[in-house]
Amino acid sequence: MLEESRPIRLTRGELMPTCRHCLGTFTRDQFIHGNGPRAQVCIRCAVEMKIATEEEVANLYSEKLRNARLSLVARRYSMFLYIPVLWTLWGMYISSVDPWGLYFLLILIGLTLFAPAWFFIRSAHFAGNMARLTPEYERPKGH
Ligand SMILES: [Zn+2]
Repeated sequence: MLEESRPIRLTRGELMPTCRHCLGTFTRDQFIHGNGPRAQVCIRCAVEMKIATEEEVANLYSEKLRNARLSLVARRYSMFLYIPVLWTLWGMYISSVDPWGLYFLLILIGLTLFAPAWFFIRSAHFAGNMARLTPEYERPKGH
């Protein structure tokens, strides 16, 4: 009861609990319930130490889920890596080739101008995919 009425200031980190095994600081929902050996143990340590099963902790970010999320983020931001690489290649090799230097320059300018627009156009799609790769979890009352 007291726990619920208190304001949750998780973003400032003051009330974020620390796991006593890995010393990691996570939000409350990243901890398992219970007393004794189960007290103050994060879900990842609990699964690794076989205190809790993987089915029991619904919001564990498994290897598969972690890789899927990482590749999603990598795909979203990779164009900002490719465009400078293409510009460098153009400057080093293609700019001196007579008609193609100009054609590639126009393509590169188009790509560079289009990239931020595409980034914002795809942001809803990205948020949807990220939500799909976020485990469903409802915090139990009083926890
Ligand atoms: Zn831990």
